[in-house]
Amino acid sequence: MIPKLELHLHLEGAAPPAFIRGLAAEKGVDLSAIFDPSGAYTYTDFPDFLRVYEAATSVIRGPEDYARLLAVVLETAAAEGAVYLETFVSPEFCGGADRAAWRDHVAAMAEVAARLAPEIESRAIITPIRHFGPERARKTALCAAETASEDRSGWVAGFGLGGAETYGEPGDFAWSFDCAREAGLGLTCHAGEWRGPESVRAAWRDLGVSRIGHGVRAVEDPALVRDLAEAGVTLEVCPGSNVALGLYPSVAAHPIARLADAGVRVTVSTDDPPFFHTTLRREYDALATAFGWTEDDFRRMNLWAAEAAFCDEATRARIKEKLGCST
Ligand SMILES: [Zn+2]
Repeated sequence: MIPKLELHLHLEGAAPPAFIRGLAAEKGVDLSAIFDPSGAYTYTDFPDFLRVYEAATSVIRGPEDYARLLAVVLETAAAEGAVYLETFVSPEFCGGADRAAWRDHVAAMAEVAARLAPEIESRAIITPIRHFGPERARKTALCAAETASEDRSGWVAGFGLGGAETYGEPGDFAWSFDCAREAGLGLTCHAGEWRGPESVRAAWRDLGVSRIGHGVRAVEDPALVRDLAEAGVTLEVCPGSNVALGLYPSVAAHPIARLADAGVRVTVSTDDPPFFHTTLRREYDALATAFGWTEDDFRRMNLWAAEAAFCDEATRARIKEKLGCST
């Protein structure tokens, strides 16, 4: 199996349906309406997807649930061939940005990450929610900065804006990103998914990120594509997610190959895989079918992911070795 890196995965969004059903049963919550007869998540359109997502994640409560969730997510990804994974984690859902509660959540998850590291290395990207506004993002940034300095395992490694891209402008969150940068965290921002190339440029320019979550609509502006390629900005591309949410009609129509051909550093992730009925392996298979990508193409892409990962240099070297690259 090709060794894979995954840079863009929402922890709650990666929760397998069986795990959520188990938690719901423990808590006496009836969630039967969000599953189809085969047991998969089911929804009709984007607003319904958000409703189902919210219902599923409402039963994940407290450090112990999050530790169990991280374990199942890491084991699932390792079975897909992932050797390194970064996951978005938000203090908004882990303790409601209360710093003491957040610290307990991080400690429980970092312990699981350390235990499973021989199988799959992982890091956390701390995530403010864009549509909750800049003020709440500041609290999240302070949580991130504090745990980054306290967490000796180095599991808290990044900071990245998620949530509704249509809310506000990236620059509204500059204070939070400055705070995270000063704490030594790697920076990324969702952009170029629900808005066009100007949103990608604004995130890159106004937040100083080295990676863009999605970023695929940069393809609509040739000058931006050139600039991203030249600067070596890495895109965390999630083709199955984009197709499931209707951005593109099929993987064959997805711009990832055009971006790669133009020299942009694209990587492949799954975003919220069970909600989009995808897995890492399915993404790779779909790309191989649509574009004829070979093992060499995937290795080059994973090398870009390793170079863009928010981990320490010793971990990066270990990951590159697993990819079969000595440097
Ligand atoms: Zn995402």
